[in-house]
Amino acid sequence: MAIVDRLLRPLRNLRISVTDRCNLRCAYCMPEDDYVWLPRERLLSFEEIVELVDVFTALGVDRVRLTGGEPLLRRELPALVSLLAARPALRDVALTTNGILLAPVARDLARAGLHRVTVSLDTLRRDRFVSIARRDALADVLAGIEAAGAAGFAGQQKIDTVLMRGVNDDEIVPLVEHAKRVGAEVRFIEYMDVGGATRWSMRDVVPRSEILERLARELGPVEEIVERSSAPAERFRLRDGTTVGIIASTTAPFCRSCDRARLTADGVLFFCLYGRKGLDLRSLQRAGASREEIAAAITAAWTARDDRGAEERLAAAERAPLAAREALRTDPHLEMHTRGG
Ligand code: SAM
Ligand code: SF4
Ligand code: SF4
Repeated sequence: MAIVDRLLRPLRNLRISVTDRCNLRCAYCMPEDDYVWLPRERLLSFEEIVELVDVFTALGVDRVRLTGGEPLLRRELPALVSLLAARPALRDVALTTNGILLAPVARDLARAGLHRVTVSLDTLRRDRFVSIARRDALADVLAGIEAAGAAGFAGQQKIDTVLMRGVNDDEIVPLVEHAKRVGAEVRFIEYMDVGGATRWSMRDVVPRSEILERLARELGPVEEIVERSSAPAERFRLRDGTTVGIIASTTAPFCRSCDRARLTADGVLFFCLYGRKGLDLRSLQRAGASREEIAAAITAAWTARDDRGAEERLAAAERAPLAAREALRTDPHLEMHTRGG
């Protein structure tokens, strides 16, 4: 039995950021020149993460996703995966990565028991990759996707693409075709005004309706796949049987079924991507709190939860980035790359 919040949403899904550092600087996530990083001594050890995961699973969590920052920058990540995969209460252990460092560890991750991999890929063009992500690393990302397929994640691999108007929205079809070639499913994500997206503007969002229109225009009829799930992606089938996902977090948010909490690399638990205040589990843990005490703190916070961040922002008349640059510097926990996407 999972604990439920004030909107009767169960806590089932935990995203764990294992580092706030990143080897890319994506325009929609880390557009600035310098960042304030979490102090290293505050980062949770693998043992501390696993101890917390055991508390969460006792409260009903059965899925975890490792993220960041760039999770593969964290040394020995496969060791954490094997500790998590050995927990019978977890039916899904997944990873979201930018793919740069994936090729050399794909087999280790598979052996460690990772179930699913999502690789972020916004373009297939090298010059464009450099201008979006400010590093010349497209070849490594593509090699990472291939290596994950060969390591046994074929069919369990997704490719996530954030679309930005005038930047990469002419690559919808090439990305669908590339994903098909490598046996992955591509999901198009609407550009969100989360913390860190300091250059966000509604004008740059490519809405779900437009993505569907373009798919239909270029690839023929698009059929919606009806499924019951709390996953944010709506899935569609194209004429040739290929499936694609759309995550319409900006124009059609899915807060009503949001069953996720996010744990930062320094052990602060957030209840919404847009939430301002988190629950500091690291301090509790390092002060010697028992499992029961930590469980009670999480339960109290989750049962009081009424966050609907993306829905509230959609309803607001004026829309602008969540936090200004200065606010992000004084409170890096507001950053998407700290909170874990
Ligand atoms: N570094 C890894 C990666 O990029 O896959 C994992 C962390 S990253 C924060 C997780 C996801 O957040 C990525 O798929 C990224 O595309 C998404 N993301 C970051 N900023 C976003 C924004 N402003 N709008 C929509 N998605 C965003
Ligand atoms: Fe890009 Fe992910 Fe790094 Fe953000 S955390 S800059 S989305 S690679
Ligand atoms: Fe969940 Fe907050 Fe995102 Fe809504 S905005 S889906 S409540 S994380």
